[in-house]
Amino acid sequence: MLRVERLKRFFIELASIESPSRREAAVAAYLKEKFSSLGALCHFDDSASRTGSEVGNLIIDLWPERGKPLLFFAAHMDTVQPTENPKIVFENGVFKSDGRTILGADDKSALAIFLELAHHLVEEKLFWPVQFVCTTCEEIGLLGAKHLDYSLLRAPFGYALDSEDPHDLINRAPEAIRFSIKILGRAAHAGLNPEKGINAIRVAAEALVRIDLGRIDFETTANIGLIKGGQATNIVPEEVLLEGEVRSHSHEKLEAFWKKLVKTFEEIIQCQQREGDKRPKVFFKRQEDYPLMAVSEEHPVVQIALRAGEKLGHSLRLTKTGGGSDANIFNAKGFPCVILGTGMRKVHSTEEYLPLEDFVRACELSFELLRQAAK
Ligand SMILES: [Zn+2]
Repeated sequence: MLRVERLKRFFIELASIESPSRREAAVAAYLKEKFSSLGALCHFDDSASRTGSEVGNLIIDLWPERGKPLLFFAAHMDTVQPTENPKIVFENGVFKSDGRTILGADDKSALAIFLELAHHLVEEKLFWPVQFVCTTCEEIGLLGAKHLDYSLLRAPFGYALDSEDPHDLINRAPEAIRFSIKILGRAAHAGLNPEKGINAIRVAAEALVRIDLGRIDFETTANIGLIKGGQATNIVPEEVLLEGEVRSHSHEKLEAFWKKLVKTFEEIIQCQQREGDKRPKVFFKRQEDYPLMAVSEEHPVVQIALRAGEKLGHSLRLTKTGGGSDANIFNAKGFPCVILGTGMRKVHSTEEYLPLEDFVRACELSFELLRQAAK
């Protein structure tokens, strides 16, 4: 039997250790100590120099001598802020913070499940080789997963425990890019010789009204969330900077949006021809945030999870998410991975909480997954 009191204790201990992004050393040391005492092999990869974290990603092998791992479980060790001196409260079957900090169930609830699973396997002498991948810097751009040493990952597929509802099985997540657009006009005195200026704010505005933003279609969203420019009311503004993002479950649609965005700005610039004067200029910068995640419903990673859910008497809902996570990177690196919920709620806020019932259910599901994979 999985032991609920022990699972609770692991969670409280983990959530009591501060681990904002790049400061994961203490939580990693705690995990290493616990897993090592079970005889598991703990290995830090060399990603720290590239992520800026205190430590590398922690890859744990249980029963490596028993052959190829059946699967891997993944979770991130870092949390968002505020995290200073966390006090965990357990009341009426629910974990929460004392209101000053986040709870950190995102993603410590998953790490506690890993510990309970490993203890259970060892106690029951269930020699199912399995890997646990504990990443750094997920919350600041999936940096740990992006720089993970994938030669250490020997399992064919895996499960990232990093979502809320334990009834959900997430097999699709969007691709996302971030971009900035700089418009360079020409400064001039607004009262003495405005005709010598090119108003960059005006150029930006003309382009912006011609661009679709918000929900573009059922699988694509776009936003321009930042605008900076101008110096004073009596100066024709020379420079404007716009920053935004686009996400889509379709790579083609994302590229189509980007193309249209660029074309719209270039057309507006073309129209700005003036006598004996130069046109404004536009500069684009684009940064890939995370790649698309789309795991086929036929893939064993999905099928095993569905079977495990049925076995426990609660069928899982196949669903998609609107955000990116480490699972996007694992998939892009050739390791099919879906996302499961741990019961955590209202994450990234001081109201974050974790109902024990859902937490235990997620733990039971993880164990059942392994049992199904071992068959
Ligand atoms: Zn998370």
